[in-house]
Amino acid sequence: MVLLVYLGTDLLAAWGLNLEFGVAGVANFAYIVLVAARAYLYAAFTLGPPAASGSFQQYIIGARLPVALAIILAALICGALGCLIGVTGLKRLRADYQAMVMLVISILATTVVGADSGLFNGNLGLSLIPNPLASLGDASRGWWYVALVAAACLAGWLALRRFTGGPLGRALRAMREDEDAATAVGKNVVGLRLAVQAAGGAYAGLSGALLAGFIGGWSPSSWEYVETLALLTAIIVGGIGNDAGVAVGVVIVPVLILQGAQFLPQFQSSPELASDLGWIVLGLLTIAFVFARPQGLVAERRPRHAPAGQDAAQAPPGGARPASTVAALIALPRPAAAPKAAGAAASGRPAALSVEGLVKRFGGVRAVDGATFEAEPGEITGLIGPNGAGKSTALALISGFLRPDGGRVRVEGRDVTALPAHRRARLGIVRIFQLPREFGALTTIENLLVAAPRQRGESAAGVLAGRWLWRRQEEELVERATALLTLFGMAGKRDERAGRLSGGQKRLLEVMRALMAQPRLLLLDEPMAGLAPALAEQLEEACLALAGAGLSILLVEHELRAVERLCAKVVVMAQGTVISQGRMAELRTRKEVQDAYVVG
Ligand code: ADP
Ligand code: MG
Repeated sequence: MVLLVYLGTDLLAAWGLNLEFGVAGVANFAYIVLVAARAYLYAAFTLGPPAASGSFQQYIIGARLPVALAIILAALICGALGCLIGVTGLKRLRADYQAMVMLVISILATTVVGADSGLFNGNLGLSLIPNPLASLGDASRGWWYVALVAAACLAGWLALRRFTGGPLGRALRAMREDEDAATAVGKNVVGLRLAVQAAGGAYAGLSGALLAGFIGGWSPSSWEYVETLALLTAIIVGGIGNDAGVAVGVVIVPVLILQGAQFLPQFQSSPELASDLGWIVLGLLTIAFVFARPQGLVAERRPRHAPAGQDAAQAPPGGARPASTVAALIALPRPAAAPKAAGAAASGRPAALSVEGLVKRFGGVRAVDGATFEAEPGEITGLIGPNGAGKSTALALISGFLRPDGGRVRVEGRDVTALPAHRRARLGIVRIFQLPREFGALTTIENLLVAAPRQRGESAAGVLAGRWLWRRQEEELVERATALLTLFGMAGKRDERAGRLSGGQKRLLEVMRALMAQPRLLLLDEPMAGLAPALAEQLEEACLALAGAGLSILLVEHELRAVERLCAKVVVMAQGTVISQGRMAELRTRKEVQDAYVVG
């Protein structure tokens, strides 16, 4: 019975942590702090003033609230606390640093609460915490408590399915796989992380309150940072990102090993030894699984999208791609002004991209030093220059991945200089990375689906309302993604994990994913580099078709013959500035260009 309560509360806690770490990739080593915070808050809200209970323990708040109200209040505070930890600890830190910050927070919290007896009675902890089911008789209460915990687990499971089973879960996993790539298709990584922290905090809190209510006491020794590690081990053993797997892991790790060790007859006399032994086994298990079976006992499963399975095989070979089909596929929004006759670009429509006096310094290096140029709408504009000229940096400034030290970026007349990268992506400024950055653990088609903008299933409303709100949109997206895959001859790879694709296929995937994001301005950084000739040709064709469909493209490319074939206008950069622009054929004859290439 006791074990079942432990199982249930551990399960809730592990699910919450799996949501953060397994699904969203936030390594929250301070997770147990949230469990503890909730336990303390629950205690403080229900115990009544210290004086009333004999003054033998000291703590803050001391309200004698009804149990249900205490749980709700504590849940809200915990959610907020989760957010707070999220904001302070990990707003813009790299993932491994975040993990360290979390670990330190965890140790600090234990120390502070332990040392300050005015807060929650110091190291002695709180006792006589009311049992939520106190009104029931002592005899039957135990099993009712198990039922209560089981109900909480069931509710937790269903809520979790809502949260991670749909498009939001897909976006979170994409963020876990590659944060920058997720940003590049318009995901607000910071926002997603905070949402996850809040939700994870709620699970931690529920777990903590139920546990404290059951034990009747709570002290710093119940929530040392190693408890988070135990939960992590459960997740690693059970299956990262898989909630059912985590349930298995929880049965094995905290319950069977850590608690079970204490029940072995030969250790009854020395519980210390038993728990130490438990931890050693835990450590070994973690190491073993990380090396031998990183996906855990029950691997994360991805949904299959293949309809019936036959038409996947008959992908048409590369070839005719009428611009109209392409336009339909990428759902290019109509340009603001009605398309006019040739030459209209010069008169009415604002430039697709206009860069003015852009500056970016890295320490003493002026990587981009006052670059000014424009890209015409519905055309492929080339950006060339010797190595180190600042082309990649310029693209990063245009897409918002770097902040300029000076200058402006305008896209279709709109000044986007101050917007963060994900907001620019939502406006249609979509970059493709120089090295493919696929979401490896997601399937090929999921990589495309996740990129689609304005998904209802990713919103709070979508999560609360459930599937019916987003099913239609999802079906449309699947249709569009399938058509794109077919167009690029990759329909057969639809349900393959993207990490298993070949280098060339990953590059195509990257292009398709960008197209799924409904770009208006596509930024390509050396897309042909390292591609097999056939694939390079396919990519060139696709670029032409896309431009034909009205998409504006800025192409950084080393292969000058490809640039000559594709681009009407070419901008030449050297040492951070634009030294020349025009048609490729003219540029070849210009002295400053020749000099730059020889010297650079
Ligand atoms: P390109 O793409 O044209 O080859 P880059 O934009 O990558 O050139 O680089 C331009 C210059 O800026 C180079 O001298 C490079 O060493 C420097 N640079 C680029 N990124 C960084 C960075 N993150 N930190 C320091 N220097 C950088
Ligand atoms: Mg570069």
